[in-house]
Amino acid sequence: MNKLKADLHIHSVLSACGSLEMSPTKIIDEALKKGLDIIALTDHNSAANCKVAMETGKKKGIIVIPGIEVTVSEEFHVVALFSDIQSAETLSEIIYNTLLPIEIDEDKMGFQLVVDSEENILRFEKRVLNQASLPVDELIQKVEELGGIYFFAHIDKAYFSLISSLGFIPENMKDCIFELTREDTYGLKKIVRNSDAHFLKDIGHRYFYIEADKNIQSVFENIRKGVFYYDA
Ligand SMILES: [Zn+2]
Ligand SMILES: [Zn+2]
Repeated sequence: MNKLKADLHIHSVLSACGSLEMSPTKIIDEALKKGLDIIALTDHNSAANCKVAMETGKKKGIIVIPGIEVTVSEEFHVVALFSDIQSAETLSEIIYNTLLPIEIDEDKMGFQLVVDSEENILRFEKRVLNQASLPVDELIQKVEELGGIYFFAHIDKAYFSLISSLGFIPENMKDCIFELTREDTYGLKKIVRNSDAHFLKDIGHRYFYIEADKNIQSVFENIRKGVFYYDA
């Protein structure tokens, strides 16, 4: 078992709010520079850049977990992570089909780009990705069916968070995994800290540790067991 340094919430050029420097290749180079052992690519409501990120990560010696930051219909963010690309792409497709066909205003909102490992643009995603998708219960059920894990994103933020949306943490959710950006733990036990980076410089500015072997299966197993922590 190793102590793996993890940042499991990073956006690429597929997120309109993500900087155009956030190609999977540059993200991985930056993550290696920051000493991370494992990252997750988690764009809004889509896993379209995950495959190239995983392949590039494999070549460069860093684990890349395919993920999606889902905007649930209750208007908060849940990050879903998968041990394989097929499951991530399956959820990605399910979510895409729930999105209204609203075309993105690229001048105002930015581009949503699908790219390859050489940073060539493969396509411009035109549908606004960051919009309300499945209800949270339905999302969790789908993620579990697909063998994934999930955490409630940045719950201490004033927008798009479980607390900002519901006003409290429901009792039956308290054993779930929560992502925090500040020090207050809200009395919760399973806490992860990630950068939620939209710019290269921010990758790894928050992180946590997982005790696991250096492969996704072991990482998932140990996250499920709760073998992760951060330096307070
Ligand atoms: Zn978010
Ligand atoms: Zn995010």
